[in-house]
Amino acid sequence: MVTDAAERIIFANAAFATLTGYPAQDIAGRTAADFGPGESEDEASLHAARREALAAGGEFRATFVYRRPDGTPYHLEQSTSPIIDERGRITHYVSVGKDVTARVVREKALHRAATQDALTGLHNRRHGEQLLAKAHRKALARGKPLSVLVCDVDHFKQVNDRFGHPAGDRVLADIGRILRQSVRSGDAVIRWGGEEFVILLDNCPQPAAVELAERIRRRVEAHRDVDAGRLTLSLGLATLRPQETQQDLVARADAALYQAKGAGRNRLSFA
Ligand code: GH3
Ligand code: MG
Ligand code: MG
Repeated sequence: MVTDAAERIIFANAAFATLTGYPAQDIAGRTAADFGPGESEDEASLHAARREALAAGGEFRATFVYRRPDGTPYHLEQSTSPIIDERGRITHYVSVGKDVTARVVREKALHRAATQDALTGLHNRRHGEQLLAKAHRKALARGKPLSVLVCDVDHFKQVNDRFGHPAGDRVLADIGRILRQSVRSGDAVIRWGGEEFVILLDNCPQPAAVELAERIRRRVEAHRDVDAGRLTLSLGLATLRPQETQQDLVARADAALYQAKGAGRNRLSFA
């Protein structure tokens, strides 16, 4: 498309109409913003960067989300260049867009596969360790409390042995759901190992973490699996100490979990 200096469209080709879903006669005089971009915060800052680059006479290239008249989103890799007259003034912009929706969808699926545990939909161990490193850095920098909760299903091996692996898988998925539903949206629930979960409680001092851990313990205890019936969790809790490494923090939570197991299971122990 070609726009004037105020970004009103004065020409768009046939592919533009096909791609956007807006008929050619509806396009003239409108601005690209009329086609529905800028929904997320990222998008808003992208548009701000674009305006700045263009106002300075530069080119700008980025991928934006737009919507067709029926609401379906598409991802457009769009590059815009100014046309400058002999007196140095911007008179028009030329913008070329390419539909990269399929690529974006594929990349998102790949990202999910790389960071998510397939059985529970929780963060996988690898991604969880990255989240822990980030939370640890942030907690030290801001002096905010970070609590780590390690949860392990009690006598889980018996579920597999008595009712089969698929029943065990169902129990893990159910417990994963209970954990996720029990925490705030900013907290990370990670499938740390087979039947072991780690929860990162950002900006959460120990008393609040204890309360949450107890709530989780009770909720799992109240759940009934169609085969295995009542299940219980043992939990270990540690809250970051000044200058403590993330490894030491997790090791303390692990030691607390071990203590909870030794003390009879279905309980919380804190370091
Ligand atoms: P404890 O109370 O001491 O924690 O006993 P436990 O039986 O829960 O502990 P243990 O570590 O001996 O058993 C864990 C079992 O979890 C062993 C393994 O076969 C099973 N497991 C690990 N990953 C999966 C999975 O993805 N699906 C299923 N169904 N079972 C799994
Ligand atoms: Mg166990
Ligand atoms: Mg275990």
